[in-house]
Amino acid sequence: MREVPQVSTLRILGYAAKAVGQPLEPFEFAPPELGENDVRVSVTHCGVCHTDIHAIDNYYGITDFPFVPGHEIVGYVSDMGPTVSGLKEGDRVGIGWQGRSCMKCEWCLKGEEQLCMDIVPSGTWVPYGGFSSSVVVDSRFAYPLPPAMPSQVAAVLVCAGITVYSPLREYKAESTQKVAIVGVGGLGHLAIQFAHALGWDVAAISSSPEKREQALAFGADRFIDTTDQAILRQFDFGFDMLICTASGGMNWEALLMTLKKKGKLVLLGFPDVTFNSTDLVAHQLSITGSFLGNRATMREMLGFAQDQGIAPEVELMPMSQVNEAIQRVKENKARYRIVLFNETAAIGAG
Ligand SMILES: [Zn+2]
Ligand SMILES: [Zn+2]
Repeated sequence: MREVPQVSTLRILGYAAKAVGQPLEPFEFAPPELGENDVRVSVTHCGVCHTDIHAIDNYYGITDFPFVPGHEIVGYVSDMGPTVSGLKEGDRVGIGWQGRSCMKCEWCLKGEEQLCMDIVPSGTWVPYGGFSSSVVVDSRFAYPLPPAMPSQVAAVLVCAGITVYSPLREYKAESTQKVAIVGVGGLGHLAIQFAHALGWDVAAISSSPEKREQALAFGADRFIDTTDQAILRQFDFGFDMLICTASGGMNWEALLMTLKKKGKLVLLGFPDVTFNSTDLVAHQLSITGSFLGNRATMREMLGFAQDQGIAPEVELMPMSQVNEAIQRVKENKARYRIVLFNETAAIGAG
């Protein structure tokens, strides 16, 4: 039996940014109180996501400092409120960006908790995120993991995995259709794997030609190198859907031209988008975003990934090297995601 790390009841150790854009520093805080439906989870692993870095920079305008980032969490339930059901102490769980929701707004009642009208305080970051020894979340957002799934794999799947799986699943109906994944990075390399496993014809579109072999190995049927825009032009009217995982620097008009009429562009990151609307109107295109995924889709995604052998490429680093990890992500050097393991936990890089 694996040893379950114990949380100190006196203090939690984490890494916090004290102000906008600052490097993280060791930070101690009192354990947040446990609500009646909450679980306390000892963090063994936590992925590093672009969203953490944006939040440190207060890009979304919602960050409170000191800020402990981290929202791609795997750990063990160490304590629970009186009304928690379906989990027990010692269970290994994954937690993504959303750690709770109001459970009573229009969207929560529809089972689309990721659209909760009270989304800002729903983040697992509130009050403190996963770059720490433990977190408290609503138990309904702590997902039991397939036993054979490595923790560093699960950590990435509960954020990057659900982010790419949710739109692919929502638009799955006609699997003979062609999809292009724009960007072969942390999100993109998972999107290719999921799209391939769901039966789509998959193109990978990237401005990094050195990623060609890996993109094909992840399951792409073809690789389109956008450093030569003439190649992209060969795919005009080629795709039913574009899933954009890239964070910017796109030639949006050229990309939209690769959509079939009535095609759909789905944005997953938060890129700045500008384009002339002529093709959008004349081709009756749709542009939409997709944010996280609901709880039912999260559970489905974890099972599907396990069954299909879908896993991110992960670099493991100790949590004490969090600033080095963030720097690697900022410089686009991570291949393809970095997961921190918690040296203070009894369980290491399992
Ligand atoms: Zn994330
Ligand atoms: Zn709600």
